[in-house]
Amino acid sequence: MTDLGIVQRLMLDDTQATFELVIGRQHHDQLVDVDSGQALEFRDAEIEALQHAIAKRLGYDLNDHRLVLIGRRRGTCGPG
Ligand SMILES: [Zn+2]
Repeated sequence: MTDLGIVQRLMLDDTQATFELVIGRQHHDQLVDVDSGQALEFRDAEIEALQHAIAKRLGYDLNDHRLVLIGRRRGTCGPG
């Protein structure tokens, strides 16, 4: 289904992935919690504008983008 654009796969690392439905949803970017796999949605006008500016600088008009931040909640001990 990922090829049809119905479900978007978000890679957490080389072995882990999470999936989300993307039909008819308003654009958002995500921060994925590497421990729980939970995806927090956000939209930031400054980041959106910056991505368009970068594409323009490289000689492109931006049609779409995906931004996934992957992180660990502050104060949470990591492995090891
Ligand atoms: Zn975005």
